[in-house]
Amino acid sequence: PGGLYFISTPIGAARDITLRALDLLRDAEVIAAEDTRSLRHLMDIHGVALGGRPLLSYHDHNGEQMRPRLLDALKDGKSVVYASEAGTPLVADPGYQLGAAAIAAGHPVTAAPGPSAALAALTVSGLPSDRFLFAGFAPNGSGPRRRWLADLKATPATLILYESPKRLKALLTDMAEVMGGGRRAVVCRELTKKFEEVLRGTVADLAAAFADREARGEIVVLIDRPGATVVTPADIEAALREALTCQSV
Ligand code: SAM
Repeated sequence: PGGLYFISTPIGAARDITLRALDLLRDAEVIAAEDTRSLRHLMDIHGVALGGRPLLSYHDHNGEQMRPRLLDALKDGKSVVYASEAGTPLVADPGYQLGAAAIAAGHPVTAAPGPSAALAALTVSGLPSDRFLFAGFAPNGSGPRRRWLADLKATPATLILYESPKRLKALLTDMAEVMGGGRRAVVCRELTKKFEEVLRGTVADLAAAFADREARGEIVVLIDRPGATVVTPADIEAALREALTCQSV
């Protein structure tokens, strides 16, 4: 049936696409993608032929021009599938304005849910999952990033952030300064891929781990809620030393 279908695509392992997403790709009358080449590749892997159907590019830089075209197709009663390059559309990816415009015009909007790096990272983090806040990417530059972290500091939830490998070190350093080095944190790298790695520790541990190590690949950073500070042996030693010093004066 006609309507807009947001499908999630793999964040690494090509087989992490759902059977329903493949059915929708097979049946859609119009397909739109953030990156048409990567969607073509995924369709090839799973044996979904494009045939004579239009495969349109829709991303942040051409959304204004492309939205009317996709809305016209919806108005004609067509089924339109939209996929972002990886993971779930709208999650730090295009799709919000398209969905909102389709809803405003009265068209059905459906999701074929699937992979998203944020939820995959939360799942393997070991941090509390009862309440979490997805905060997306921190702004560029230390000043804006520190203000952004200060705004999030008191949020009573596990925080989930996306970060690029080249900014990871700066993010962890600013996190330690603004939020404190003792909070539990997790860095997830290359989830579902060959070099998947999950590093768990305090913010200070992770900042130290990446101080002299080049980060590579795709990264999610998680941080525990405030008040859940880890007490390290060094903290105990410092507290004891302080107590003993106080007694001797
Ligand atoms: N829409 C996607 C989703 O649902 O996860 C996110 C798109 S956003 C432009 C790309 C960012 O997601 C990367 O910079 C990284 O922070 C995170 N990411 C995507 N794939 C990942 C993976 N396999 N492992 C870790 N992080 C990943």
